[in-house]
Amino acid sequence: MHVPPKGDPASLGSIGKFEVKRSSKKPGPALELHASSPIPTQFGEFELKVFARIPPGNESGGSESEAATGETAREHVALVYGDVRGARALPVRVHSECMTSEVFGSLKCDCKAQLEWAMAEIARQGAGAILYLRQEGRGIGLANKIRAYELQARGHDTVDANRMLGLPDDARNYDIAASMLDYLGVESIRLMTNNPEKVRAMRALGVQVDDRIPVVVEPNTFSAGYLETKRLRMSHDLPAYLNQPVNVKRAANGK
Ligand SMILES: [Zn+2]
Repeated sequence: MHVPPKGDPASLGSIGKFEVKRSSKKPGPALELHASSPIPTQFGEFELKVFARIPPGNESGGSESEAATGETAREHVALVYGDVRGARALPVRVHSECMTSEVFGSLKCDCKAQLEWAMAEIARQGAGAILYLRQEGRGIGLANKIRAYELQARGHDTVDANRMLGLPDDARNYDIAASMLDYLGVESIRLMTNNPEKVRAMRALGVQVDDRIPVVVEPNTFSAGYLETKRLRMSHDLPAYLNQPVNVKRAANGK
């Protein structure tokens, strides 16, 4: 059973009362919009839209509370700035959750800095969206990510640590993001990323990516090694100036 949100029913008009939308022409999963509200941020006012995947075979609009298990229970967010319906070349950041940096201020990676840079840039450009996907640790989950951190603290880089745990370098899936764009009526995007593989992945999902907007944030002592690994081993388009003679492993270990 859906529990209708409290408040003025008329205010629900814009979200279509849990409207179900499935793309007819793109391969992304069916999504359900669960809630939407303006949210003030230090970068300006965004509209926060909460989505969840509709389990396959339940597209006709079943109850998310009955069917929600595992992946389908997870809520994903579109943080929308300005008018995006029908937009072309819209700046869009497809961002995967990173609890360690975004909540706790971990300096081991650049996720929080990239997220904030993207929010500020979208506000500056007047319209855009952050598609925030709940796939911690490049999709391997929080516990595996922390296991990999423990190996990194013993001197292995991020790619080797994942391999030692028998995990993929990158287990992310962007199909929810493609469906969100479809839902939002965005015609084409400029993807805010340093990762050419992400551009390819979005295009493979039927998203028209007109261009890529590089996201360059300053490394710190702890993240420099991670960024250098992303540049050298994961094909990220990052400047080589990051390759500085910093003894990152020693610094990251605190030894
Ligand atoms: Zn991170």
